[in-house]
Amino acid sequence: MNLHDYDIIIINSSGGKDSLCALWEVCRLADVQDFPFEKMAVSHQDLGDMEWARTKELVNRQADLFGLKTYYSKRRDKNGYEETLLEYVERRGKWPSNKQRYCTSDFKRGPGGRVVTALTKQLGECKVLYVFGFRKDESSSRAKKEILKLNKPLTTKKRTVHDWLPIHDWDKEMVWSTINIHNLPYHPAYDLGMPRLSCCFCIFSPFDALVVAGKANPKLLDRYIKVEKKIGHTFRDGFAIESVREAIDNNYEPKIINDWVM
Ligand code: SF4
Repeated sequence: MNLHDYDIIIINSSGGKDSLCALWEVCRLADVQDFPFEKMAVSHQDLGDMEWARTKELVNRQADLFGLKTYYSKRRDKNGYEETLLEYVERRGKWPSNKQRYCTSDFKRGPGGRVVTALTKQLGECKVLYVFGFRKDESSSRAKKEILKLNKPLTTKKRTVHDWLPIHDWDKEMVWSTINIHNLPYHPAYDLGMPRLSCCFCIFSPFDALVVAGKANPKLLDRYIKVEKKIGHTFRDGFAIESVREAIDNNYEPKIINDWVM
């Protein structure tokens, strides 16, 4: 990858371990290639109360290590109101699912695209390198992703956007050894046993991860249960998030949790 082919590099970050390593890898390469760090930025799609506490601050801290500026974006409705994912679920009367994954499209891709527009407005004709920390080990769909690909929805007559996955072939051990060797700041949720960050209660989380998240975020769990009861639609097919509260109340001890498929 020749970074000098691009006018700006935007690194998407959830604040999680993979985003952190993607950031580290791009900055390492920028250093080797003498690419100006002023032309690089971090973009975080803020999920508000739904994401683990202090994630926003962590993203900023991680970007600061390399002298990069962080841009935050949130989903907005037609009137400009920043609706949370939980409010959106309540209004739609349905939880997102594998087939209707509106949490990612509306709360991540959409707001992230607004950051690209804002950062390229003054550049005129430009090429954007749009970075993600996806790894092939995470799931079969991520394994099939091209490492460098034209992002058609974000490409316009003036702007060409390429999605780039710099750590696509890294395994989990490489991710953690990079974080540990370089003493990079990571979220304490990992030390609780969570293998992923982003939403505390992800629709794809295995049961034990929901229990870990529920123990650490009891008030948020109650809000999820309240919405589940109100809309009469279970968190997942045949699975009510209320059962997480029951498990916690019965002192259920979660086992070691492996990364889940997204
Ligand atoms: S973490 Fe899970 S629930 Fe949250 S936006 Fe991503 S896929 Fe959806």
